[in-house]
Amino acid sequence: MRVAVVGSGPAGLYAADALAKNGVAVDIVEALPCPFGLVRYGVAPDHPKIKSIARSLQQVFEQPGVRFLGNVSVGTDVSRAELRERYDAVVYATGAALGRPLGIPGEELSGVRSATDFVAWYSGHPDAEAADFELTARSAVVIGVGNVAVDVARLLIRSPDELAVTDIPSHVLATLRRSTVEEVHVVGRRGPAWAAFTTKELRELGGLAGVDVVVDPTELELDDAGRARLAESPTARRNLDALTDWARRPLTGAPRRVHLRFWLRPVTMLGTDAVEAVEFERTALGPGGAVVGTGDTDPIKTELVLTSVGYRAEAPAGLPFDGAVVPHDAGRVLDGVGPVAGEYVAGWIKRGPTGLIGTNRQDAGETVRSLLADLGDRPGHGDPDALPALLAGRGVQVVTWAGWEAIAAAEVALGQAEGRDRAKITDRSTLHRIGTAPSP
Ligand code: NAP
Repeated sequence: MRVAVVGSGPAGLYAADALAKNGVAVDIVEALPCPFGLVRYGVAPDHPKIKSIARSLQQVFEQPGVRFLGNVSVGTDVSRAELRERYDAVVYATGAALGRPLGIPGEELSGVRSATDFVAWYSGHPDAEAADFELTARSAVVIGVGNVAVDVARLLIRSPDELAVTDIPSHVLATLRRSTVEEVHVVGRRGPAWAAFTTKELRELGGLAGVDVVVDPTELELDDAGRARLAESPTARRNLDALTDWARRPLTGAPRRVHLRFWLRPVTMLGTDAVEAVEFERTALGPGGAVVGTGDTDPIKTELVLTSVGYRAEAPAGLPFDGAVVPHDAGRVLDGVGPVAGEYVAGWIKRGPTGLIGTNRQDAGETVRSLLADLGDRPGHGDPDALPALLAGRGVQVVTWAGWEAIAAAEVALGQAEGRDRAKITDRSTLHRIGTAPSP
């Protein structure tokens, strides 16, 4: 039996792992020349412990029968129908790579960007341009209070010396060294008890050299709804403890500051060509827990806005799509009539952009159980040469696992030349050249 898994992020690799452990041959098809999805292009460079998950995910490729077919775009290089014909089943684990727009006036002004663009830039995603971010602002605003908001705020304010030991791309480090950002305002539209970030990530902001965390105690005050929320959520209690510590602690006069703000919803971005301020309206909780505006406004001056209000997905290669996810039943793709034979989903394209990396193991496990139950013990027909032959006929140059290992070795060599363990290569043509060069 041979299954194609589309997407080599955690969800795709956990699915491939579960399949391989059941004796199924797996081709992992990836649009980029490099594997690991958001582990490589989403997890912040200063989170090496989370990044080290790549080492355990790597073991998936080391199992017999598992192949990496990088630089292959489903929908462009091979159609969904062509893929389906060549495998016993296909699992789509293409994630949700785009930032959600806020949908407020002024969002088109220059200086207003999605946090996902900033993440792609500092992670060295091949689609990001080196000059995408110049960081000439003094004050930056991050809208949203999830873990991505905390990541982008930390990368904006953290001393570049602390980042210089990571695998951050050299041009990103150089821009961060020139950065003029002194203030970062992270703004939530509800109270701190409803913030989406987790406490470990939040507390990290308090340990950054040269940075004060500023919290207004009046924004931490609790009403009945806030107290009820704390009673039901240990994370909310721990978050509030961290915020209360900062609100009580005197500022040290550090050169850079992170302001954690609450009860403010963005109404409009102000400015002529470039953003000059964000107008926020103060909020309260209305009936049924909805956020309602109080009519009081509070502008924050800024030259850079990062909207960090969640990810969104695009339908992969024409699969059924409800605007957010691919409809499914325990991982089986559903069209209007019922399950689509042989097509499955796992990860964010299946359940939406929530959860931590490990959440994908269970999620992919469910999908693989459905797939194996559907295929039963009928003989497989997947021909190992069918897709490579089609791609070769079209002149698509595939990056194999050996090609990825050559890229990884080149990144280690590049980093060591700069006095660090590894430095990311970001340019697609360079990745491609190294990844497809014949082995020596
Ligand atoms: P998220 O956790 O869903 O947070 C989104 C934030 O945007 C929430 O604070 C939400 O507030 C706010 N928001 C949504 N619509 C808004 C609007 N119109 N105006 C103002 N605020 C709005 O999403 P995320 O931060 O993108 O993270 C995605 C997932 O990746 C999460 O599961 C996260 O934990 C995970 N992640 C983990 C790490 C890590 O572990 N280090 C790092 C990055 C990401 P409301 O609650 O009021 O809607």
